[in-house]
Amino acid sequence: MSTPSSPIKAVRGTRDLLPPETALWARVESIARDVFSRYGFGEIRTPIFEATELFARGVGEETDIVSKEMYTWEDRARAQSEKAQSLTLRPENTAGVVRAYIEHKLGDSGQLQKLFYLGPQFRRERPQRGRYRQFWQIGAEVLGPPSAGSESPIRDAEVLEMLATLLDELGVKGWRLELNSVGSATDRLRYVAALREALAPVKHQMSEDNQRRAETNPLRVLDSKAPEDQALIDSLPKIADYLDDDSRAHFDAVLAALAACGIPYTVNPRLVRGLDYYTRTTFEFTIPSGDASGLGTQNALLGGGRYDGLSEMLGGPRAPGIGFAIGEDRLILALQAQAEAALNPGAPHLASEMWVQKLDAYIAPLGPERNPAALTLARELRRAGLSVEVGDGTFRLKKSFEAADKAARRIVILGEDELQSGILTVKTFSTGMQTKVNRAELAVYLSTPASE
Ligand code: AMP
Repeated sequence: MSTPSSPIKAVRGTRDLLPPETALWARVESIARDVFSRYGFGEIRTPIFEATELFARGVGEETDIVSKEMYTWEDRARAQSEKAQSLTLRPENTAGVVRAYIEHKLGDSGQLQKLFYLGPQFRRERPQRGRYRQFWQIGAEVLGPPSAGSESPIRDAEVLEMLATLLDELGVKGWRLELNSVGSATDRLRYVAALREALAPVKHQMSEDNQRRAETNPLRVLDSKAPEDQALIDSLPKIADYLDDDSRAHFDAVLAALAACGIPYTVNPRLVRGLDYYTRTTFEFTIPSGDASGLGTQNALLGGGRYDGLSEMLGGPRAPGIGFAIGEDRLILALQAQAEAALNPGAPHLASEMWVQKLDAYIAPLGPERNPAALTLARELRRAGLSVEVGDGTFRLKKSFEAADKAARRIVILGEDELQSGILTVKTFSTGMQTKVNRAELAVYLSTPASE
């Protein structure tokens, strides 16, 4: 039992994001928004909780997510007119986007819908570096009626090419695209039957986890990293041998388009991914694991795939689609680690740039009676677009200089003489240069780089 006075901490698996790191998050999000808009995506914001049934039907009852990781509760009725309902914090966002697509009849326009989202997701997983119970995803979906071309392999290739561009623009080094085709829903059924058959005589030799998966969701056995099971898994039937002609041709067309635009990829026949709704193309972008990745064993930056039957599973019209979700927490960890390891010295690093960014000026009032004038000057400068911190007139000059040096590139001294004369003393920390500047010219002076 905790005592009444013991401090309350953030819940296990959740964390606070603080400045200056949040500046890096904002920067990553702004680059993502910029890339998405160049590819014609619009933003969608769906609720953070949904009816539990949405995930049970969409993601699949037998998946790890639905069977053990969801935050679900019985929401009590508050009025006679309401019914109690089982609700769940969203563990992923694709099901919510497709629900919204159906609910708002977005398919009626006959156009492809290109939607992106950005927000927290919730899964009760075992927390570790790169794996949290509340984590952020940046994702996008392209879906629409088949007449809009939503099934075309060019959509898959375009999404993958966009991701390659996004990772390049973010400055992620050494990413690797792995992809596979899990075939149509019927290919999958045939394949899962073959897998079950192949697993039946050998599954008792496998780890406990894989014995359970062999029963409940044999595809998940392929995802397994259990070292003792690898030889057995490699000997299992391959999905590639169960694709029908259409699925085969679709996958070949995706690969051909990727090759044509110079996106390197590796076909990984074991990449099936854990969610039930995937059909045909599935993919992951990873970065090399190890310390420099910042991710340890959690080296998947993002994952996604095609989900041609999901809309129907949720009671909607036919609306084939493809999408992905980037783990934003992992992306940030990777950017920070790569900046620190300086894998590419000389290149500007998004992460390191953000850590050192200082304000344009620190205003140091001399004496508390100068505080109102300091605030007035700060107001003028901030309105002129500068970033400014205001000190406090009770500080001794030495303390003001120390505080200013930490926060800003320059310090502006504001004493009675300066106020009377309108000539201010400005010191630039990087050069040590101290100079007098006319108040009318101060904003321009402060906006010039410190090195000049
Ligand atoms: P998924 O929705 O499982 O396909 O995951 C897509 C991406 O989200 C993964 O590649 C990870 O980068 C990220 N992700 C999934 N689960 C977590 C988690 N618990 N904590 C942090 N990131 C996660």
